[in-house]
Amino acid sequence: MVTSLYTNMTDDQKLNQVNNSLKRKFKDRKLVFGSGFIGAKIVFVGEAPGQDEEKEGKPITGHKEKLLNQLLKTAGINKNKVYFTNVLKYSPTLKIPTPKEIKSYVPFLKEEIKTINPIIVVTLGNMALNGIGMRQPLDNVHGRTFNLGSYELLPTFHPDHALKDPEIKSLLELDFVKLKKLLDSKIV
Ligand code: URA
Repeated sequence: MVTSLYTNMTDDQKLNQVNNSLKRKFKDRKLVFGSGFIGAKIVFVGEAPGQDEEKEGKPITGHKEKLLNQLLKTAGINKNKVYFTNVLKYSPTLKIPTPKEIKSYVPFLKEEIKTINPIIVVTLGNMALNGIGMRQPLDNVHGRTFNLGSYELLPTFHPDHALKDPEIKSLLELDFVKLKKLLDSKIV
């Protein structure tokens, strides 16, 4: 069970509770937890930390972070008001994670998102999209909006992919314009 005795806790405490449950379940792993503004209206969900993220202890660092910050700035979104996390919370350097393994992290991601309670969740890449529970190919759904109950889902490409492919980078840029429009439409 992730957590339930929740009612009188601050969001910080709830998030700590989710992270502590992760630590208990994945004792042998070096975990990288989500990071950012706890009151964020936008949560970005990546796939899994890499070795750089493991070293820095936060998701999406280096060139990927630089690109996302640049995209946020261009779209007019404050980078200090968003939250970043991953589906998988450890760096799978030696082997590709199995679907079963990915699935074992999903309840924690859901609890994390529930705690932050954003208006919009942006998934970065296919694995993040699948982790949220959408099985459609990213190419068919990126930049579109899907209502998933308490939040709108906007799937887009992974920054790593965009850094290797200028066409994907252009699509990612357009998706960030859509993200800003969506955000504006939700804040009255
Ligand atoms: N680093 C992350 O934190 N997430 C990714 O999806 C890729 C690299």
